[in-house]
Formats: sequence, C-alpha cells, structure tokens
Amino acid sequence: MTSVATADLPAVDPGSVPSDLFIGGKWTGACTGRRIDVFNPSTEEKIATVADASVEDGIAAVEAAAAAAEGWASTPPRKRAEILRRAFELMMARADWLAELISIENGKALADARGEVNYAAEFFRWYAEEAVRINGEISIAPSGANRIIVQYQPVGVSVLVTPWNFPAAMATRKIGPALAAGCTCILKPATETPLTAFAMAAILAEAGVPAGVVNVITTSSPGPVIGALLHDPRVRKLSFTGSTGVGRQLLREAADCVVNCSMELGGNAPFIVFDDADIDAAVDGAMIAKMRNGGEACTAANRFYVHEAVHQNFAEKLSARMKAVSVGDGWLPATACGPLVNAPSLRKVSEFVDDAVARGAKVLTGGKKLDRKGFFYMPTVLADVAPDSKLLHDEIFGPVAALVRFKDDDEVVRLANDTEYGLVSYVYTQNFARGMRIAERLDAGMVALNRGLVSDPAAPFGGMKQSGLGREGAHHGLLEFTEAKYVATSW
Ligand code: NAP
Ligand code: MG
Repeated sequence: MTSVATADLPAVDPGSVPSDLFIGGKWTGACTGRRIDVFNPSTEEKIATVADASVEDGIAAVEAAAAAAEGWASTPPRKRAEILRRAFELMMARADWLAELISIENGKALADARGEVNYAAEFFRWYAEEAVRINGEISIAPSGANRIIVQYQPVGVSVLVTPWNFPAAMATRKIGPALAAGCTCILKPATETPLTAFAMAAILAEAGVPAGVVNVITTSSPGPVIGALLHDPRVRKLSFTGSTGVGRQLLREAADCVVNCSMELGGNAPFIVFDDADIDAAVDGAMIAKMRNGGEACTAANRFYVHEAVHQNFAEKLSARMKAVSVGDGWLPATACGPLVNAPSLRKVSEFVDDAVARGAKVLTGGKKLDRKGFFYMPTVLADVAPDSKLLHDEIFGPVAALVRFKDDDEVVRLANDTEYGLVSYVYTQNFARGMRIAERLDAGMVALNRGLVSDPAAPFGGMKQSGLGREGAHHGLLEFTEAKYVATSW
C-alpha cells in the first residue's frame, strides 16, 4: 500500500453548494430551523450544514409534487426528453467539479467519482431517449369479443430514497425514469452525502425542470419523515436504494396505503474463478469488482471462490495488486482508494476482518486500519476464510477480499447461492458454455461473465431474493414509474 500525501486542499468549496431544502422550486430552511452537520471522511472535518426537514417540511414537499403532477404528466414527452438531455449536458460540463464534490463528502477516489458522474449523467441521456418511447399495446381478445388497449401512464408522486455510496448515480437512476414517465418526485438523499443531491437539484432546475417536479429534502429523522410521506394518499410510489434492513421496514410502512415499491437492497456477491479462467483477466476483474468505490458498492465482490488448482496463482497476483493500491484523501488525483464513509463503517470492516482472522483466515496483505486522521482501512486480502466468518454472510462494504477454495461446479454453485441476497455474481471461465450454464444456476439478478462490472444505464439492474424488487435502468426502469391502464372496447 502506498500512502498519498495530504497537503493539497480540494479546489471545490462545499460552502458554495446550496444547503437548504428544495421544495416547489425554492430553497427554504427547515421549519424548525434545525441543521445537520456534513463531514469530509478523509479529514473528519465538518464541511457544511444542511437543513434538517421535519414531517411538516416533508408534507410541504408532497404538496409541491402533487401540485406539479398534472402539468408534468401532460408535458409533451419530447419536451420532457429535451429537459433530461439538457441535464445530461450540464452534468458533463461540470463533471470535474461534481466529481470533486463527491470525493469530498463521500471520500471515494477522484477517478471513482469521475466514473460515477459519467455513469450518473448517462441515466439522464438514456431516459431522455426513453421518454419518447413509452409505447402501449393493442390486441384482439382471444374470445374476439373486444379489443385490449394498454397505455402506460405515470404512477404518480414518487418518493425516492437513496444511499451515500453513489450519491449522484443513485439519484439520477431514479429521477431520470421518474421524469421520463411523467412523475413528479421527492428525493431524500443519505445524510452523509446531501451536497451532491442539492447540486443535482440545482442542475435540474437550470435544465428547465419546472418548480415542484423535483423536490429534495434532507432530514435527521428519516423514519418518521418517510413514514409520513408513505401515509399521505397523494404519494403512489416508493423507489428505495439502501440496506435490506431499512428496505424491509419501508415495505411494511408502504403496506398501509399499498404504495407501489421498487427496492434496490444489499448484496453479497460471489466472485467465482474456475480452473480454466484466464487468471490475469480474473485479477483485473477482481480489482474492479472489489475496489471500485473502495469496496463500498452493493455490487462489490464479497466472497471470492477460487478453484483449488488456480488458488495460489490468483491469491498471489491479487495480493500484489492490492498491496500496490495508493490510499489517501479522496480528492487527490494520486489516490486509488479513499477512506470509508464514516466511523461506524470503519469499525464494521475492522470487526469483520478480526472475526475472520480469529476463525483462522490468513492475512495475505493489509488487515488493519491506517494510523492517521480519516476513516482509512488498508486494502486487504484474506485466504482460507472459514465458512462461519461474518464477512461471508454480510456485506463487508470495504477494501477487503475474502478468499475460499473450492473443488467442483456443484459445490461452488451451492456455496454461491447460500445467502439471503441475490444481487450480482461474477464468473471467470474461458469456457463460455460452462459460464452460461453456471450463470443460469446462480440466484442473482445480474451475472458478470468474464467482467468485473455490470452497471450500465441500458441494462436492467436489480436483485433476486432479499436484494430487492424491480429493476432500474433500461426500459424496465421506466416501467417501474408507470401503471398499465387497460381499456376494453370493441369497434
Ligand atoms: P441505509 O442505511 O439503508 O440508508 C439508505 C437511505 O435510507 C438513506 O437515505 C437513509 O437515510 C434512509 N433511511 C435510513 N433509515 C430509514 C428509515 N427508517 N426510514 C426511511 N429511510 C431511512 O443504507 P446506506 O448505509 O445509506 O447505504 C448502503 C446500503 O445500500 C448497502 O446495504 C448497499 O448494498 C445498499 N445499496 C444497494 C444498491 C442497489 O442498487 N441494490 C445500490 C447502492 C447501495 P440516512 O442517511 O439519514 O440514514
Ligand atoms: Mg445511513
């Protein structure tokens, strides 16, 4: 591990970003006047405060979204598309600025933040293209008695709740399809990363999104505020990205008013390396699947199952690459891995590694936190991780690769599927047919075959089992913000 110098200060001033609630096209303080502190995880310094919305502010946002709903739903799709396209262009024009802001409040390395801005902006471009392709269906009833006409209409006022790990992309992945479908929305970003969300709101307003169509609220009491929103009959949709635990709670809350739910929840991705894999390619893929975002991704490879015949080769090469990763303040260009987002995350990663080591895992590199300010953990590779270790059952959400040996296909499929999660699986083999056979047997919404990355705005992203409900991206993501209206008629 190389440590990067900390002397340079970031160029972006977090104080220049709007920090009040964005409701009905206006920036307003919370009605209680309360504020929430925002920190830089590389330095632990306070960088800003943002408004702390109460239930009353949340309801004001619903009112603004409901008031704008009819106008936006009846705005011509071409016009909605052009506004989204303009938002894409504005994001790209400010990509460097946005990337640095993301690095400052989230901690991720600048290269990862830049990658996120491109990915996030692509959702606006993709859904600008989809907005004009919301096609219905028409058919003759099998009985011949009538015609079946199906039209996709906006589902209505949507509540969007997002996590801190991709503060821009998780917002655009919801706002893009919501706006394309003709829905108005209320975004509640994670408390760790509100500034990126407010910066996005300003960009959307500049792109021509009318007042009330996109509202953004931050709150230190997400339970009561989101709970109140889900009990307001004007709210018809919840799109949530976050942990499975909070997702379960929100599904219960949404049940009372039978709110339509899309859930992108936690993962526990297996990364399978077969004996016929190209090991150098597998190591390259592993570095992306593990280290993108410093391991703080729902898609992060969590459990590496490596065939015993190639285990030593893979473990040595992966350890050498992990050891060479430069760790430092997120916004410094030389940094490849920034800090974890906060102190509880650092504690969790430390505890998971200590637990695995206590159960017999060998530390091939890393294995401890950094002795400096900020929430830094060393890029770590553990081998011979025992089956009952915590990090094989729950998301590590940090720069730690846990290696386990396997002998045959049936065994590794059983191990890979032995989890309540089912978001993504990674498979490396040079035998394409074998890869496809394994892919079909894996309980995962997404499979990366000889690739370390699945995320693509044009592909349906989402999980099976307790990793979620519904899909984001692609045309699938648009349909999540629509209702199929069926008209029976005859002529
Ligand atoms: P989290 O704790 O579940 O929080 C997610 C969001 O929910 C935040 O905005 C949070 O607000 C809010 N929230 C927390 N408690 C709530 C409650 N009782 N009612 C309503 N909202 C509540 O998740 P996180 O720690 O931010 O993000 C990491 C998790 O997200 C991981 O599990 C990761 O796998 C998952 N994730 C999934 C995907 C996917 O597409 N499947 C993508 C990215 C991340 P506060 O910030 O104020 O707590
Ligand atoms: Mg949180």
